[in-house]
Amino acid sequence: EALRDGRPVELFQADRLANAAWELSLLARIDEGMRNGDIWLAYQPQWDYRENRISGAEALIRWNDPVRGPIRPDEFILQAERAGRIDALTYWVLEQAIGAAEEFNAIGRRFQTSINLSAQLVDKPGLVSSMAEIVRRRGIDCRLLTVEVTETASLHDRPAAIRNLRELQAMGFRLSIDDFGTGEASLLYLAELPSDELKIDRQFVSRIVHHERERHIVRSTVKLAHALGQTVVAEGIEDLPTFDLLRKLGCDAGQGYYIGRPETFAQLRSRYTAKGGG
Ligand code: C2E
Ligand code: CA
Ligand code: CA
Ligand code: CA
Repeated sequence: EALRDGRPVELFQADRLANAAWELSLLARIDEGMRNGDIWLAYQPQWDYRENRISGAEALIRWNDPVRGPIRPDEFILQAERAGRIDALTYWVLEQAIGAAEEFNAIGRRFQTSINLSAQLVDKPGLVSSMAEIVRRRGIDCRLLTVEVTETASLHDRPAAIRNLRELQAMGFRLSIDDFGTGEASLLYLAELPSDELKIDRQFVSRIVHHERERHIVRSTVKLAHALGQTVVAEGIEDLPTFDLLRKLGCDAGQGYYIGRPETFAQLRSRYTAKGGG
């Protein structure tokens, strides 16, 4: 009898059909979620060590599916990529983030809003023109927006990615290397791709208080970044000792539960206007 992955072919095909149907409904539900508010953006504040204030926020996607409940963003992004919806989703995130950026900057001092760019999109031909169309239509200064890129190990077309990122940078977008120091964002990335900011991964940050090794790694990363004319953001700061130590190690900015959890735009706005804002 015919086997596939050790199972009868009929079963395998039934599985594939179910998957295809599920992906189709996923696609429809993503589109629906962007319209009806099931999909929304949480904003996590970033702290500027020199100015001692909240200086920006990272937009993190959230999805409360009415049937399945909240879905973890990394899982959701993966599914959106598979369903061929990551482009629409990303442009939707950009539109939302622009709205937030405009409001924050209207309050007073400069506020930087970050969005995440999927590796699947970084090397796509239409990326720059689509983003350019959105920012032109909205009339926003691109320098208020940061684009975080990660998982470049899975990049299909590196030269195209480099071209795209250079063009975004030329338009004024700040470029950030997310999860710096992990497998996906290495020194090779730093050598090849344009960037303005390194975001040190939580894996290192969470250990610096008790482990000398990670402390050295972070200190060296800060020196490296500064030597290249870039700034450093530490992510995953969960307590005061870590927060203080990062300042001593020369970090420019920090992000983490100790500073603030991802929250709604309204929550962040009230916090921002209450302390450290305009
Ligand atoms: P990321 O970009 O590295 O985002 C940081 C993640 O760490 C967020 O998880 C955030 O909630 C979490 N985090 C922040 N501070 C702390 C802390 O102090 N301690 C701990 N334990 N965790 C902290 P989240 O929101 O679940 O997002 C997970 C990943 O999903 C993101 O990782 C990013 O890769 C992806 N993602 C989220 N939103 C988007 C999006 O709009 N587009 C794309 N392409 N990816 C997104
Ligand atoms: Ca990120
Ligand atoms: Ca990260
Ligand atoms: Ca990550």
